[in-house]
Amino acid sequence: MQTALLHEPVSPEAESTPCGDVVRVLVVDDDPAYQHLCKRYLSRHAKTTYEVVAVANGAAAHEQCKASEFDCILIDYVLPDLMGTQFIDGLELDESKEIPPTIVMTAGSGEIAATEAVRAGATDFLSKSVVSAESLARAIDNAVEKGRLKQAVNKHGRELQVANRKLQSKNDEIQRFYQSVSHEVKTPLAAAREFVALVYDGVAGPVTEEQKEILNHALESCDQISSHFNDLVEMTRLDAAKITMKKKLGSLENVVTRCVASMSSAVQAKDLKLITEIETPLPMLHIDSNRVIQVLSNLLGNAVKYTDPGGQITVDISHRAAEHVVQISVEDSGCGIPEKDLPQIFERLYQVENTGDEFMGAGLGLGLTIAREIVVLHGGEIWATSKQGDGSTFAFTLPVAESIFDVSECYE
Ligand code: ADP
Repeated sequence: MQTALLHEPVSPEAESTPCGDVVRVLVVDDDPAYQHLCKRYLSRHAKTTYEVVAVANGAAAHEQCKASEFDCILIDYVLPDLMGTQFIDGLELDESKEIPPTIVMTAGSGEIAATEAVRAGATDFLSKSVVSAESLARAIDNAVEKGRLKQAVNKHGRELQVANRKLQSKNDEIQRFYQSVSHEVKTPLAAAREFVALVYDGVAGPVTEEQKEILNHALESCDQISSHFNDLVEMTRLDAAKITMKKKLGSLENVVTRCVASMSSAVQAKDLKLITEIETPLPMLHIDSNRVIQVLSNLLGNAVKYTDPGGQITVDISHRAAEHVVQISVEDSGCGIPEKDLPQIFERLYQVENTGDEFMGAGLGLGLTIAREIVVLHGGEIWATSKQGDGSTFAFTLPVAESIFDVSECYE
């Protein structure tokens, strides 16, 4: 089959158009008359300079596309070696090259051909029987514009993918870093704590009250560092959705008793009044008790931390039967939270300025984020109400187990 190659600028005087561009068009048609017609139509255009390369079959068109860049391809629906619609699929270009916008030309009005063309990835289709100089140029200009937009979107998408991959790998790196630092620090820290505790207990000889007080500060600091590392590692595990929930049927009474007991020395140290109100009987819940203890300990710990000596904390557990949930609230008479900060306190690392506590020190701003994640993984909700200078109430719900046949679940 003959391959006609017309490689000449159709408007010799104009190297640049009003837009400053020469539009390179590849015409793929085995009919030399139609190739000439296209060339003639496009040379008439006043505003745009078209540079037309014409070939007579698909194979030659593929070669042209590999060797050179085109802004648009006009391709006949039926070619001697392939269908115009198969052209795009068969085009193997370097990754750096974009497939040019393609207009499939059909013989008749050819609706089926047109639909097939668009499905095959063509930008547009034109009926040869009604094409004019104007409609041809317009179709090419539209296709080129669409092609440019598509290229820009593709480029943006690729850049986003690369950025996303980089972020993901940075994130993994940070997680590994936290975990290994935590491990490297916590092991010697636990040993240091153990030695201090031995001295505190008088194992290494008599200790005065004054020395005991100092040693106690050292023990508290060890516990604080360890708890910060726990929070950091917990947060990275939550990010990676690697936190484990081992849910079983259980009741909250035990959870509350354990939390309250673990807070008793901090409560005494600040001379706080801690009241517990538990509605009985409470329904059974489908919970991971250790995780719920983690949430309640965090809320109680904060209440102790942000309440001045002599203040009051109330833990209230009630059954909201209509909503099938149990609600756990921790109310304190502490410093409260400014209105502007309240919507953000569950955000990671968020801390209200100038808060902190001489007894318990400042935290990392992760506790509430972890608490929220745990509550959400239980299918509950968590929220806070507060007024600056007038205390805060943190509350969360846990769904009541639907049946005693609920089985334990694991999220890994
Ligand atoms: P942190 O470890 O800093 O306490 P959290 O995530 O537990 O981190 O809390 C975030 C911030 O919310 C705290 O820094 C504090 O400013 C505020 N906050 C939390 N609980 C209370 C409370 N009961 N009273 C006042 N402010 C609170």
